Amino acid sequence: MTSSSWEPSVEGLSGSELAALSFERLKATLRYVYEKSPFYRRRFRDLGGDARNLSAPEDLELIPFTSKEDLRNNASSEVFAVPESDLVRVHMSSGTTGAPIVVGYTQRDIQTWSNLMARSLSAYGMTRNDIVQVAYGYGLFTGGLGFHYGAERVGAMVIPTSTGMTTRQIEIMQRARTTVLCCTPSYALYIGEKITQMGVDPRRDLSLRFGVFGAEPWSEGTRKRIEEYLGLVAYDHYGLTEMSGPGVAVECQERNGLHVWTDHFYPEVVDPKTGESLESGERGELVLTTLSREATPLVRLRTGDITSLETGRCECGRSFPRITRIHGRTDDMLKVKGTIVYPRQIEEVILDLPDVGNAWEMVVERKVGRMDSLTLRAEAASANVDIPSLRKELVEKLRQKLFLRVKVEILEVGDLPRFEGKARRVIDLREL
Ligand SMILES: [Zn+2]
Repeated sequence: MTSSSWEPSVEGLSGSELAALSFERLKATLRYVYEKSPFYRRRFRDLGGDARNLSAPEDLELIPFTSKEDLRNNASSEVFAVPESDLVRVHMSSGTTGAPIVVGYTQRDIQTWSNLMARSLSAYGMTRNDIVQVAYGYGLFTGGLGFHYGAERVGAMVIPTSTGMTTRQIEIMQRARTTVLCCTPSYALYIGEKITQMGVDPRRDLSLRFGVFGAEPWSEGTRKRIEEYLGLVAYDHYGLTEMSGPGVAVECQERNGLHVWTDHFYPEVVDPKTGESLESGERGELVLTTLSREATPLVRLRTGDITSLETGRCECGRSFPRITRIHGRTDDMLKVKGTIVYPRQIEEVILDLPDVGNAWEMVVERKVGRMDSLTLRAEAASANVDIPSLRKELVEKLRQKLFLRVKVEILEVGDLPRFEGKARRVIDLREL
């Protein structure tokens, strides 16, 4: 690890030095939001005002969570800690329900975010010699601009293709000798399929070294497929718009969980039902507090992402604690006949089977007076697949994994939609 011009040697700090730095910033954040954010001042006053003073990190548990609903239901001017004239940019989270959440950035927030993205991309091994194709969407979504600014800060050359126009995307990749691809894992799979159709051999015709894939939970099976298709090393990445965007946690080259940048984000994992803090290693909902943001500081945001915290040193030498790869989101969690199902669990089963293609979706239905039914619609990988036996195998594997009877429909290649950004995997047709 080398320290770089965008950052002093934070990455070399020991676990206790890092914890001390994180705690100092946590205390400063609580004082800052009390002084500057009308929303938090009201909240903390209701608690008697003591919320500004923590004597130990555990005291944070006494402070209420911030939910995404809180951010939707309060005007941004209430949540923001700076006057509007100090903002230089806003992004919005897409949110499947309700109004979008507006996140603001000051000049310094953009700097901090770019530096964190540069640190993240360097952890994957990016250098100034890389040619980086950013195929995340540019716009209100934070993926495109987040990766763009970070890669530029590293000194690499960025090709801002954004999503879409996949054939051209691949031609550019060939001609410019792109070495790093950044996009959602669903889009990486789609690009992979297209590459095969075009007769491009990734190992002969492309120069990709590695890819950074985030913004949706994805399985090890998907990782294997992407690596096979694109001839690169596939890394996971974690972030969310409410925390600036990408750049919250990264998989190092050991690929054994994602290091959380705890000098900028304070992580906790809680029981999603009771809100009680969980021990490290226990799976629950990730809760994050920003430690360096000026415009939109957030305290104990419920992210909706299911993971666990792992402490202990990593082979890479970093002391930053790790989260395990995201298991699912409370937003796309399905309750079918009393059983909780996350799309990633389905993905783990099906993408391990070479006879199943890359596209799939789940349909949940409930006819009035009947029980819920869950149907998996997946594509066969080719015309040579024995469909009845594949269907049987899938029904059995899903029953073992989910303890649930899932109907399986096998379709032909190309029957299901492809996604250039985040994939839509769940179609809920339940009648109320
Ligand atoms: Zn590591």
